[in-house]
Amino acid sequence: MSASQKKTRGELIVLSGPSGVGKSTVISELLSCRRDIHFSVSFTTRQPRTGEEDGVNYSFVSRGEFERMIAAGELLEYAEYVGNYYGTSLKVIREQLDLGVDVLLDIEVQGAAKVRERCPEAVLIFLIPPSIEELSRRLHRRNTDEEAVIQRRLEKARQECRECVHYDYLVVNDTVMNAAQEIQSILQAEQCRTQKRIGLAQGIIGLPAD
Ligand code: ADP
Ligand code: 5GP
Repeated sequence: MSASQKKTRGELIVLSGPSGVGKSTVISELLSCRRDIHFSVSFTTRQPRTGEEDGVNYSFVSRGEFERMIAAGELLEYAEYVGNYYGTSLKVIREQLDLGVDVLLDIEVQGAAKVRERCPEAVLIFLIPPSIEELSRRLHRRNTDEEAVIQRRLEKARQECRECVHYDYLVVNDTVMNAAQEIQSILQAEQCRTQKRIGLAQGIIGLPAD
């Protein structure tokens, strides 16, 4: 791919972190400042929580429909998480990236590893809580899951946090504002990579095209 094509392609951004760390909250804050980013609405077989809207938070589908999408190769990645399927539409992501739009995925660690394999240029960011005690408080305060589900999510959180070493960036969600600002800084720095600005350098100092 030539330097000029690279400049027009959107950035694939992955945000992972344990359930309850504040991914959705930080994403809302980020998207309120960066309206140009497309948030990828995942498919899931989980039941909608109070206040969640089909097509906005998730596209809620049956297990049968999800398994059909897997078989048809319609998903960029998918994973089973605490008894439910979650997955990302390949078509939507491709369309947006080809249009030059940056795409943000909120996905768990197995899915992120698959994205890393299939799209090595993706930017992977891991969000961690200030402590496991605070994570537990956030999961309880959110009041969306039964105690047994919260305990399964907390158990999973410890394993998930160990995967943070495979990510490009690590952000602590102490306050929502700080976390969103750090993510904005990461995205800004990514745009300054030499590889992405080589076309600019060619124009300024006449570097050879290849
Ligand atoms: P996730 O999307 O990672 O599962 P949520 O965004 O649903 O997490 O956040 C879980 C709970 O924690 C929510 O009640 C949210 O309001 C709260 N929360 C998120 N970020 C913070 C923060 N920085 N400080 C305190 N509470 C937070
Ligand atoms: P929740 O049920 O709390 O909304 O999400 C549970 C977990 O599934 C979170 O860690 C979230 O990041 C992850 N998740 C949401 N959508 C996807 C997806 O499309 N693919 C994968 N692999 N994980 C997802």
